[in-house]
Order: sequence, then C-alpha cells, then structure tokens
Amino acid sequence: MQLPSAQTLQDRILYHLTHTQGRAPEHATTFDWRLAVSYTIRDLIVTPWMAAHRAAHAQGAKRVYYLSMEFLIGRILGDAIINLKLDSAMDEALQFLGLDKQEILNDEPDAALGNGGLGRLAACFMESLASLNVPAFGYGIRYEHGLFRQRFEAGQQVETPEDWLNQPHPWEFVRIDYSYTIGFKGHVEEIDGREVWHPGESVIARAYDTPVVGWGGEWANTLRLWGAHPTTLFDLHRFNAGDHAAAAEPEALARTLSRVLYPDDGTESGKELRLKQEFFLTSAALQDILRRFLGEYDDLDLLPSKVAIQLNDTHPAIAGPELIRLLMDEHGLDFAHARDLARGTLNYTNHTLLPEALERWSTWLMGRVLPRHMQIIQMIDDDHRKTTGRPERVAIVQHDQVHMGELAFVMAGKVNGVSALHTELVKSTVFADLHKLHPDRILNETNGVTPRRWLRMANPALAGLLDESIGTEWTANLDALRQLEPFAEDAAFLDRLRGAKRANKVWLSDGLLHDLGVSADPDAIFDVQVKRIHEYKRQLLNILEAIALWRRIHDDPNGDWTPRVKIFGGKAAPGYWLAKTVIHLINDVAATINKDPVTSKFLQIAYPPNYNVSMAEDLIPASDLSEQISTAGKEASGTGNMKFTMNGALTIGTLDGANVEIREQVGAENFFLFGLTADEVGGVLATPGHARAAIEANEDLKAALHMIAEGRFSGGRADPYFSLLDRTWNDDPFLVATDFGDYFATQRRVDSAFRDTRHWDRMAALNIARSGYFSSDRTIRGYMRDIWDVTPVTP
Ligand SMILES: *Cc1c(COP(=O)(O)O)cnc(C)c1O
Repeated sequence: MQLPSAQTLQDRILYHLTHTQGRAPEHATTFDWRLAVSYTIRDLIVTPWMAAHRAAHAQGAKRVYYLSMEFLIGRILGDAIINLKLDSAMDEALQFLGLDKQEILNDEPDAALGNGGLGRLAACFMESLASLNVPAFGYGIRYEHGLFRQRFEAGQQVETPEDWLNQPHPWEFVRIDYSYTIGFKGHVEEIDGREVWHPGESVIARAYDTPVVGWGGEWANTLRLWGAHPTTLFDLHRFNAGDHAAAAEPEALARTLSRVLYPDDGTESGKELRLKQEFFLTSAALQDILRRFLGEYDDLDLLPSKVAIQLNDTHPAIAGPELIRLLMDEHGLDFAHARDLARGTLNYTNHTLLPEALERWSTWLMGRVLPRHMQIIQMIDDDHRKTTGRPERVAIVQHDQVHMGELAFVMAGKVNGVSALHTELVKSTVFADLHKLHPDRILNETNGVTPRRWLRMANPALAGLLDESIGTEWTANLDALRQLEPFAEDAAFLDRLRGAKRANKVWLSDGLLHDLGVSADPDAIFDVQVKRIHEYKRQLLNILEAIALWRRIHDDPNGDWTPRVKIFGGKAAPGYWLAKTVIHLINDVAATINKDPVTSKFLQIAYPPNYNVSMAEDLIPASDLSEQISTAGKEASGTGNMKFTMNGALTIGTLDGANVEIREQVGAENFFLFGLTADEVGGVLATPGHARAAIEANEDLKAALHMIAEGRFSGGRADPYFSLLDRTWNDDPFLVATDFGDYFATQRRVDSAFRDTRHWDRMAALNIARSGYFSSDRTIRGYMRDIWDVTPVTP
C-alpha cells in the first residue's frame, strides 16, 4: 500500500474537520479533532477492507466466524495508526496542526464490550486474523452500555453506567439492509408432519460493522455487532390517544436486548434476558452466515468446507440447535443431515472449569423462551444416547436443566482448552466421560495476545529499543524476539532496557501521584496485580503479604528493605459480595500503610479505579513484577500474564494456566515459582482444618489476620471483614493460608533478586526474548491448522 505523507494526512484531517464534523479549526475541540483524525484513518482502512472481501469471494475461500458475547476492544484509533504504519507520519501531521497526540488518543472512550480475559482474547483474535490475511467475521452484540465504570467511595466499589455510545462512534458502519428477525416464545405446531414455530415475540437484529485492520494494512476483517430494534417502531394509535410514554414501549422493549453487557465474570446468572441475548447474537449470526453462503453456493452440503464457526465459551452454544432448526425448518433437511452439517461447521472453546460458571438453563425457561429449540435439544440428546450409548450423567438435559457445556461439546467438531494444563484438566474433569466417548474431539490451543497492541503500541520505549537492536520483524513474527538472547549479556543493551523501563515507571509514577496522591518511587519494585477481582485469583493473598511485610518493616525500620510499590487494578461483579469486600480491604490497607511515616519509603499501595484495556496499556509496560497467583487448577490460561512477560516484567506465580508454559519458555531460573500444584490442591482441601493449621504455623499470616480482625485498617471496627476472616480461617476454598508461607518467602527472594540490577535486567531481557510463543498469531495459526482447516488469502 502507498502510505500517505504527513502533508496528505494533515490535509485530510482538515478536510474531515470541516466537511464531516462541520467545524472550523478555530472552534474545534479535542473531540472534533479526534473524529477528524479517526475519519482520516478510517478512509485508509476501507480500501484494504473492500479488497479483502473481494479476494475472499473471488477465491471461494473458507471463512472463519467467531461468535462471542464479549469483545473487549479498548481504543481503536492508536492501534489502527500503528497497524497502518502511520505513527511517524501522523506525529508529524499532528505536530504541524499544533495538536497533542496523546490528548487526542485519550479522548476516545474504551469500547468495553466485555468483562475481562475472554472478551480481550476475542479482540486479540480479531486483530491476528486480520494480520494473517484470514477471511473472518467477528459476531457480537452492540451493547449501548459496556462494562460498568468503577469508582471508590470510602474504599468501596460503586458502579456507574458506562456510556461509550453517548457520542458519535466514528468506526462503525450501520447496515440497514442486513437485518434479521429474531423470534422468541410462542408455540410449535405440527403441520403436515413438519414442526412450525410461531414466535410470540420478535425483534430485528441490525448489523453495525467495524473494520479491523491487520498489521501492515494489507487486510481488514469485519467485526459485526448486532443492535436490537423493534419490528414495529412506534405505536401511533396510543400516541394519538395521548399515551405518549406507552407509544414508545415496543422500541424500549426491543432495545433492552442490546442495552447492557452482563457484568458477571465467572458466575452464571440464569436470567431470561441473558438467554435472549445469547439467542439474539447466535440466530442473527447464523442467519447472516447462511445468507452469505447461499449467495455463493447452492449446495448446503458444502457448508463445512466453506464455513468454520467458533463458539467462544458456551454463551453462543444455542448455535447447535439453531443451525439444525434453520437447516430443517427453513431448508427442508432431515435431522441427521442437519446434525452432520452443523457438527462439521461448529467448534467450541471451553474457558473454565469452575462449576459455578458452567451455564445451565431450566427446561421450563428454555421451553418457554425457545420452544422449538427445546424440542431440538431433546432430539440431539436422544440421538447422542442412541449413537454412543452415553451414560445418563452426561445427558444434555438432566434434572430439568439444559447443560450448555454438554450441548456445546456434543454439537462441536472440535473442542479446545486454552492452555496445556487446562486442556488436560478438561479431559480429566469437566468432560471426562465425553472425552472417553469422543477421544479425538478435545485439543489444546494455548491463548496468546497481539504484540501490535500489547508491545508496539503500549510500550513505544521498549519497541524502539527492539527495533534498533534486532530490526522490526518481531512485530509480524514474534518468535524473532529470540534474536535478543545474546543481548542479555550486553551491558549497553541492558542499560538501555533499564532506561526504557524506568521512563515508563516515571511516567506512571507521575500519574499515580496526580490521580491518587500516591508517591511511587520509580526505583522501587513496581509489583502489579491487575485482573478481575475473584477469590480464585487471590488478590487476598497479595494484600495479606503487604500487611505482613508492613509489620516486618515497622518492627525493623532501619533494616535493609527493598522498596516496593504494590499496584492493584480490577473490578468485581456487582453481586459478588466477597470480591467487593476484598476491594474494600485493599483500599483500607492502602490508606493506612501509605500514610505511615515509618514505612512510607519502603512500601506504598496504589489502587487506581476502573481498570480497563487503556489502563492495562499504561500499567503493564511500567511493571517489574507480574502477580499471577491463582490457586493451581483454577485459571484456565490467563492472558494478562503473557502481556507482562512480553513487556519484560518477571512473574511471581503458581503452576496454573499458561503460567506453566511461560515458565517453560522463559526458563525456570527466570520465573519466581511458588505454591501448591493442581494435583496437590485436592488433597489439602480434603484435610479438615487445613486453613487453621496453616495460619497457626505462620506467624506473619496470623499477625496479618489479627490486625484486620482488630480493625487496624478500618478505624477500630472490623465488622466489614468478619465474614472474610471467618471464611479464611474455616473454609479457605482457594488455599490462601496454605500457600501464604511459600508466597511470602518467594517475595523475599524477589526483593533480593531486584537489588542485583544486572541480574534482574538479564532475566527481564530473557523473558522478552522468549515470549514469542505467546503471540495470538501463533494461537490463530493453531486454530487454522487443527480446527478450521483454512489458509490465508492473498488480496
Ligand atoms: C488482558 C486483560 C484481562 C485478562 O487478564 P488476566 O490476568 O488474564 O485475568 C482482563 N482485563 C483487561 C482489561 C485486560 O487487558
């Protein structure tokens, strides 16, 4: 592609400011300029986008369809500029216009259409698919309100609605001609031996397209988000009768379907609206896929060779019955034929082993909301029993509940786990019986993250150093980072690596002081745990370690302590009471410790509110230590862990999820391992009084818990923490107490390692050099080869 010059960019920005935004430069706000810049960049994406569509069509290429209830995209503009390789030309253009680039980029609201790792994975996959020239569509929901905004009041989480669509969104194209009717409820009638569903309600799903451009700007795919609209816009009779509010009811009712993202991460909500949202996304996507397919081919038997559909978790698992319904009821196929085509097309990614997160719907709810699908689910289940002789305990319908995990498994050609350990546990626990019946179905595709956003864009200081040292190839081929290994022995390189990290830390430190009043010494260890707040992720373990360390420093204030800044970030699901208590505790402890003059130069705690993709981009490049401390066997993969490794932070972590593979890649000597293994966890949990025994045996832990119980961090009143303390002493289902001793000792090893700066920098360099495996390009290549059977297309 011919890259536009800075002068051209500048002209086009001024053109869009005037003609698209309708603003004169002298009156333009940051918002106006941001839109003008965004339209300028968008214009440059449209050309490869259309070329990609044409090439896929002309070559009869097989397409990938990624169905996900969440896409945690973050900001788009900066990433698009990077992928078009226009960063320096744009810098020049903006400078000439007298604009502050950072201010313009930061004006864009985060598209927070997801909760955490699962949604962010979908966003990284979209970017990698485009970077690898794979014809692909992402299908999701255009939530008017993404994930809630988090504030702290008196240390407690307060949620407020997020309103990213309250302003024009320059990246999307609305397609009013791509609209589908989505039915709910009603009844099923047998007419001439065929089942006919008469929905009792319906809404329109309308397509809103966002192009996703790949690295180099050669290829762009579509993220197609569905917005819900009423079938009848407005009740004119009621309006004319004077009932103005009631007249707008149909519209309001339909819109609730794409109004809000469910803010739960890892618990199942069981709400009718959620089921309707899942069906809304899935049915719209499948209707769109079949329309496109039938526009190109007239033989439905070709479907598996032209279409690969990936279900991101069980949320779109209704795709099995819905695809069968469309093929049987709309296209006249018989059940077995429809089932085989569906199974040849659908695949399912499992993301969790936590029982509370496995989706189940009562048969009466499923039967009421989707009566035809309930019939088909029974047919699938009966068919599976007859063809495999499967035991009753793996039935899809059990005890009046529809098990979506089993449904997704039975209807999928391939089922994948998201890290090596997780996949083994999927085989041996949640799907053990199904795995025995279908031994070739489960496979592993370890997650990854895109190095364009998470390294080149988020960390320009490090990216620049890499470019100068080994060239720019790593951006498209992250394995090229291996060329950095010899530099781990090069003192000049290590000095520059330290300089880049320090610059990021200084910048973050300024922000923490300005936003939170926390003074973070850039020479301290920046010790960061950012992710959703969940018991299994064990933020509690981290804050208990902080309390214990504080007490030790307090007892020996002239000791030779390694200064440390602990940074937390993350949201709790609004209904997850224990997670919210942990947030409260971290804030209470921070408030007490930060103002202690005896310890303040050694230990500070910062908890910036409202963790999101943009905050991750600021924090991760400034981190020295990555906290990946989940109870072994609970974290399916993690992707935050990979972002830190790429950015030269060392990990303190358990043998859980992809931590196992990170440690294998970077070398055990460059990773701070602690804690029980997944195999050991069960044994400890089965030991009565395990927590109490561990607490009694560890003076640091015992003292820390006593300090909380005495109200040392909460003005003498500990009642907010009684339940949390009680749970820690008596149940401790995530083994915080058992792992504490090893964690505390390992943190002290971190302290001394950090003081040997040369050695630390060498370890950091090796972490970067050996992080190539964790590119989502590698993950997508794995899906292409093992699951989808697709190849890249030349535009
Ligand atoms: C990467 C990312 C996550 C996932 O983090 P984990 O540590 O893997 O749970 C969650 N939220 C945001 C904003 C992210 O960027």
